[in-house]
Amino acid sequence: MIDYLQTLRDRPVWRETPEHVRERFRHALPRGPRPFGDVLKEFEAYVRPYVTGNGHPLFMGWVHGAGTPVGMIADMLAAGLNPNCGGRNHIGIDVERQAALWVAEILGFPRQSSGLFVTGSSMANLIGVLVARSSALGSEVRTTGLQGLKQRLVAYASSETHHCIVRAIEIAGLGSDNLRVIPVDSSRRTLRTDILVDRIEEDRAAGHVPFLVVGTAGTVNSGAIDPLDEIAEIASAKGLWFHVDGAIGAAAMLSPALRPLMKGLERADSAALDFHKWMHVPYDAGFVSVRDASLHLDTFASEAAYLSRAKVGLAGGDVWPCDLGPDLSRGFRALKVWFAFQTYGADRIGKCAEKNCLAATYLAERLAEDGSFELRAPVVLNIVCFGIKGERSGRANRTLVERLHLSGRAAPSVTYLDAQPVIRAAIVNHRTTREDIDEFVRAIGELVSSEGPLPVEAIASS
Ligand SMILES: *Cc1c(COP(=O)(O)O)cnc(C)c1O
Repeated sequence: MIDYLQTLRDRPVWRETPEHVRERFRHALPRGPRPFGDVLKEFEAYVRPYVTGNGHPLFMGWVHGAGTPVGMIADMLAAGLNPNCGGRNHIGIDVERQAALWVAEILGFPRQSSGLFVTGSSMANLIGVLVARSSALGSEVRTTGLQGLKQRLVAYASSETHHCIVRAIEIAGLGSDNLRVIPVDSSRRTLRTDILVDRIEEDRAAGHVPFLVVGTAGTVNSGAIDPLDEIAEIASAKGLWFHVDGAIGAAAMLSPALRPLMKGLERADSAALDFHKWMHVPYDAGFVSVRDASLHLDTFASEAAYLSRAKVGLAGGDVWPCDLGPDLSRGFRALKVWFAFQTYGADRIGKCAEKNCLAATYLAERLAEDGSFELRAPVVLNIVCFGIKGERSGRANRTLVERLHLSGRAAPSVTYLDAQPVIRAAIVNHRTTREDIDEFVRAIGELVSSEGPLPVEAIASS
């Protein structure tokens, strides 16, 4: 795998899995053993070449982390020890508490804040919503449920908010009709606080209970940063829970140059972030941090006979991670984060974020020079949204991205801004250099000027 990582550039970013390979994964359950070496050879031939490709420096689709060799080895060590980090009295729990302290330091939260590893920010945002719900209704809501509620709880988030917030509101039983979608400023693509205030007033006047506002530190579409400080002010004046989705933006808190952009994040009641995106820890490693640790505990902790605590011995300890979220058995995600910060240091991870932002600005400049493309959103962090100049329907943007994927040279993705498909390059990879950006511009420039069918040669040769 180390050789593989060193030679990423020699291979296509992505290639279609041929049918004969897919066919190999439709076999019946093997009843008997095979030599491990044979299975490993099969992995090398039929799994390794056909993954997403997010380690490659020209992978710029969605917002995918690139991983590191240190993370890879840490994950192997974690699997070797194989502790169950749901709870009990062992060092894995201390390593996780260490991560919670580090996250509090990164976010500017108090040391007493609680924190929990989860799969990703989707789950972390859900936990934020559930703690906010407890804060509004009291933790009795766990037993009474929402069925007898006389008043509606309403939440607020911008139209650029990640869809997992909508899903969190659904899963929390609040009903997404009660999530008010606040429009964004048309140029900066950030939440309109004037409209937020009006909607809160309207909902109050209608007898509803505004309880939660979600701000985003780095939107998934364009990297826009909501006016977090202003939202914090509004939330505190109106008595709402302030949750920040920092899936992307929390990494920027590690850079002294980028940190000021996130001002106000430190005032949140809870925040979600992903170590597996812009902090390069291998999947999966999401995290939720809650300022009021006791409220977090009250939202999830419960007593079960088989989980009773002892004063001494292996069943010792007061708060176990299983008291802070829905999972009981959990892996040792904290170890790879501990290794990453110990080995690279927070400053270097912050520098990588800066480097990606500079690469994004450079890409925007190169595209402007090229003349075939135009920017479709301001470049705030590491995400560049653009399209073919004058191409308003966006269909050609979609086709261009598909052709680029099939060519194996680069992998941006498509998103929609104001209902128009645009090309989106999210530069998340610490391996991406200016030369890679040059190659990206070359690849996309060559394809846009070469009319014609999909590059079938690329498919055939895979
Ligand atoms: C990726 C992302 C999420 C979802 O996080 P997962 O780790 O994929 O669950 C939420 N919000 C934003 C802004 C994101 O970029």
